[in-house]
Amino acid sequence: MSDLRGGIDLGGTKIQTVVVEPGGSLRGEARQPTPTSGGPPDVAAAMEDTLREAASAAGVKPEQLSGVGVGSPGDADGGTGVVSGARNLPGWDGSFPLGEALSKALGTAVRIGNDVQVAVEGEHRLGAGKPYDSLLGVWWGTGVGGGIVLGGKPWLGRGAAGEIGHTVVKRNGARCPCGRRGCLEAYAGRAAMEARARRDLAKGVDTDLFKIMEKRGKDRLTSSVWEHAMREKDPLTESLLRRAVRYLGTGIASAVNLLDVEAVVIGGGLGSRFGDRFMDHLVKEMQKHLFVDDNPPRMHVAELGDLGGAIGASLLV
Ligand SMILES: [Zn+2]
Repeated sequence: MSDLRGGIDLGGTKIQTVVVEPGGSLRGEARQPTPTSGGPPDVAAAMEDTLREAASAAGVKPEQLSGVGVGSPGDADGGTGVVSGARNLPGWDGSFPLGEALSKALGTAVRIGNDVQVAVEGEHRLGAGKPYDSLLGVWWGTGVGGGIVLGGKPWLGRGAAGEIGHTVVKRNGARCPCGRRGCLEAYAGRAAMEARARRDLAKGVDTDLFKIMEKRGKDRLTSSVWEHAMREKDPLTESLLRRAVRYLGTGIASAVNLLDVEAVVIGGGLGSRFGDRFMDHLVKEMQKHLFVDDNPPRMHVAELGDLGGAIGASLLV
């Protein structure tokens, strides 16, 4: 056995895998699109294949790894390795023993964790959160996820802590993808922003967002589509992003009032792209709601980039 470990970031569009040294240095990586049809066993097979590629790039066999960590969407049970209700993956409404299936296929121990929590832990141990004992990670992407570190350790609650996207920023507010009303994600999540943009378009609001989407061969408003539209100074794009940042400021400030963390790390597809550009605006919006307003938390954008989720997952080993 080597002291190398594997990490898998299981996303709705891609599977990213890495093989890293104990300190987090990269030895191999591979990426494949996530299957869009079939069911959990097909997704697990694609994960196995992608991890094998990363291991081969690192010059090892998967069974020689000291273990593999997985950051998974849905309800990921670290104790049993079962993943339930991963609705952005094909046929994954129910439960599937992902840890067991992968462990058998790869011939090494597999640990499962929540995708955002492992990415935040990656930033805490190896990235922007390194100097701090307490931090709040806010992963701004399709949804708005979160992770909390308190006293140097991840705070998981009873397993589901960190869901800042479903803290309420407006009572009886906009409908959230989760079905409730007024959640932060209903204003700041990419899926909710796309739904709003489509409604505005139908009402006759002038925007190039969807033209840019088609030109880039996409069928939805990915983070890169938002980025291009922003670069072309599309007014609806700018106003929806600024609105998202206003609500992020409200939600993050409320969380800071409760937890008094030293730092906030902004990550995720939109967070990594727009975090720097909107940081001043975000700080200003937060400031309005901070109860102790003369000692705000330090604000950072995630540093580990595209591989952060997979590297964070490898820390589960
Ligand atoms: Zn919600």
